Amino acid sequence: MPGPLAGYTTLRTGGPAERIVAAGSADELVHAVRAAAEPVLILAGGSNVVIGDAGFPGTVVLVRSRGMRVIAEDATSVTVRVDAGEPWDDLVAATVANGWAGLECLSGIPGSTGATPIQNVGAYGQEVAETITGVEVYDRVEGTRQVIPAAECGFAYRGSIFKYMDRWVVLSVDFRLARSPLSGPVRYAELARALGVEVGEQVPLADARAVVLRLRAGKGMVLDATDPDTRSVGSFFTNPVLDRGTYEQLLERSAELGDPPAWPGADGLVKVSAAWLIDKAGFAKGHPGEGGVAISSKHTLALTNRSGTAHTSDLLTLARTISDQVHARFGVTLHPEPVLINCTL
Ligand SMILES: Cc1cc2nc3c(=O)[nH]c(=O)nc-3n(C[C@H](O)[C@H](O)[C@H](O)COP(=O)(O)OP(=O)(O)OC[C@H]3O[C@@H](n4cnc5c(N)ncnc54)[C@H](O)[C@@H]3O)c2cc1C
Repeated sequence: MPGPLAGYTTLRTGGPAERIVAAGSADELVHAVRAAAEPVLILAGGSNVVIGDAGFPGTVVLVRSRGMRVIAEDATSVTVRVDAGEPWDDLVAATVANGWAGLECLSGIPGSTGATPIQNVGAYGQEVAETITGVEVYDRVEGTRQVIPAAECGFAYRGSIFKYMDRWVVLSVDFRLARSPLSGPVRYAELARALGVEVGEQVPLADARAVVLRLRAGKGMVLDATDPDTRSVGSFFTNPVLDRGTYEQLLERSAELGDPPAWPGADGLVKVSAAWLIDKAGFAKGHPGEGGVAISSKHTLALTNRSGTAHTSDLLTLARTISDQVHARFGVTLHPEPVLINCTL
């Protein structure tokens, strides 16, 4: 029996697997998945999974393929094809250094490139859906390799057709990036403030990257082995997206607290700050749970394995307490952002 999967996750929790195999190329990945008996878990950086204390009763395939090449270019853009196992932030650093714009605000996000389409990774006003042109996958149902064009990936806020679906193994991802020494227009107010510009202005790519990394570090949102607040999956809950009726009910229930930070979207839906709801429901930064878990001391949305020896069950108990209390206080249901494996909330 291999050791616990905790060592393969940023949360540092999770029991053993029956088998663990590493795949160093797209071909090896396809081969490993084809050869393994079900169930199979694809695991890359382990930064967006919560694995149960009983572990995984099957084969874990570790995505360890590396590489990036330009597959098309013209005067204004380049398209790069990136192997699934390429560490995401190495890719972002390389694009910034090359003067290719489009990923700079996604600096410092842990994990692999192949996992970014899974939940349409986003931060500071950018999402990978804006630059991905296609995702090369191995289709486990059909037993074929194919490229799924971005328009068919079903990208949405922290979601895509790939999330919670075992059908597709991501082999590589294509990104079309602008040749530009400047970032795209800065959309996120906090980032614009930190850069000393107005929302909508552009800044040198390297400045955008440096300031995003600084802001993220201040919130425990870049991995740092010396900082127990980063023993997490980043945000544990997504920002709830509410229909008008639920949003208005929330405004009534929170009248004496002031309006929650909210972002109106398409179809009358409103995205509301989960961090605000959690804080106002009575959970401050640093709030401890049982067994060595705690809310991050830097960010209300991150649940951490503070002691380094906590169990997944402790973390989920804290998550449940928080979501129950938010629901009781505001009538809003919180949903977990990470993929829960062999455990439930
Ligand atoms: C400190 C911290 C900060 C974070 N900040 C952000 C943020 O700002 N924005 C954001 O969106 N996310 C954030 N995250 C979450 C996480 O980093 C991203 O979701 C990341 O893309 C996960 O990559 P991974 O390689 O670690 O995926 P894993 O955790 O290994 O896997 C996640 C899911 O994707 C599947 N998967 C992984 N690779 C493949 C593949 N090649 N083919 C098929 N399925 C695959 C897995 O089976 C699993 O279901 C943060 C996490 C941490 C710990």
